[in-house]
Amino acid sequence: MSWYDDEGMYDVAQICLNGHVTNDGIQQFPQGNKKFCPKCGEATTIACPNCGHPIRGDYISDLVVVMGHHYRAPAYCENCGKPYPWTERTKTAAEQLAKQLPGLSDAERGEISDSLDDLVTDTPKSKPAALKVKTLLAKAGGEAAGMLRDLVVAVSSEAVKKVLLGP
Ligand SMILES: [Zn+2]
Ligand SMILES: [Zn+2]
Repeated sequence: MSWYDDEGMYDVAQICLNGHVTNDGIQQFPQGNKKFCPKCGEATTIACPNCGHPIRGDYISDLVVVMGHHYRAPAYCENCGKPYPWTERTKTAAEQLAKQLPGLSDAERGEISDSLDDLVTDTPKSKPAALKVKTLLAKAGGEAAGMLRDLVVAVSSEAVKKVLLGP
């Protein structure tokens, strides 16, 4: 079930529906497979629920062990383009929190909701979107703002994480 593409060969990942990676290489490390997530108890999956395409896992290499490399659950299926369940859930939860943010106008809350797509992906718009959301969250303050930031950080790229958690 592993496959080659331009960048090399990848294993298949097993991820819980809430986005916790339970095994980033089910063929190399089948002993690491889990039916349910040890972090949240949710069922795990190895394929897109929409099209059945296997979830791309960690890079496979016989030659080098990539140290310090951190595998991240992908946000969207590379075969059908649909968001994975954890992406949908994170966005839904973040939208709910955005509605509860104190100190912001409805338009500002809407801006946060509209930015969520850019925050969970890796596009040229991700960093500016992260900066905008960071500014709005700082303005809002309070518990809901911190929770929203943590939610997004858990599924976002290093670049977005850096902006959101930076000084
Ligand atoms: Zn989980
Ligand atoms: Zn798919």
